[in-house]
Amino acid sequence: MRPTAFRRPAWWAAAALALWLAAPSAAFSSPLPAAADPPRYERALPTAVVLIDVGHGGIDGGAHYGGVLEKDINLQVAKRLYLVLRSKGIPAVLNRTGDYALSDENRWHMTRSRHRRDLSQRRGLAETIDVRLLVSLHVNWSRSPAARGPLVLHQDEGRSALLAFFLQDALNREYGVRRIPKTGKPYYLLNAVKLPSVIVELGFLSNPSDRAKLTDPRWQQRLAEAVASGIRQYLWTAG
Ligand SMILES: [Zn+2]
Repeated sequence: MRPTAFRRPAWWAAAALALWLAAPSAAFSSPLPAAADPPRYERALPTAVVLIDVGHGGIDGGAHYGGVLEKDINLQVAKRLYLVLRSKGIPAVLNRTGDYALSDENRWHMTRSRHRRDLSQRRGLAETIDVRLLVSLHVNWSRSPAARGPLVLHQDEGRSALLAFFLQDALNREYGVRRIPKTGKPYYLLNAVKLPSVIVELGFLSNPSDRAKLTDPRWQQRLAEAVASGIRQYLWTAG
């Protein structure tokens, strides 16, 4: 279901032919227009560094169902995403690799609120490390057990919306649903971080079907690959 290769469509060939056909005869005495330049098939992916923001950690477990904790699922998928991205030549960094709270080591925000320290640590990292985009991994929760499926939240900004579109589309395919991304206006992270950022809610821990997927290593791999595929498409499109 996922796109397996990124090949530029042959639009350039059609465009070059159209130009040639439409050109007045006088044009033949002048050099061909730039549009006829040979295409660069082997266009390398731009140097991309993705910051994978692993939601919650340590004392902050996030959503939970019995002994299943959001923070653990986020980390499991994040590690897989890291490996998939690296295997595709897209350098990535994780902002936590174990079960700890980012607020514990905050260097940017001296406040007594652990939650604020945690969030500003995430923002501070995004500003310190030279990254092109930030993907924050989370798991959703609803009081209604029927609520299910992935949801991507984005900034009120074009690049973030584009990234969210590709991620949502890739995750929709895995789940067999049709959802559209939403702006996440109230979210501190999306407001505070300047680079294109999205929050990916991988599924609903409160829904039995989603929960089975989110806790299944094979599905975690599928979700990681879907997110990586969306990131790759974004990088390709955004240049
Ligand atoms: Zn969360």
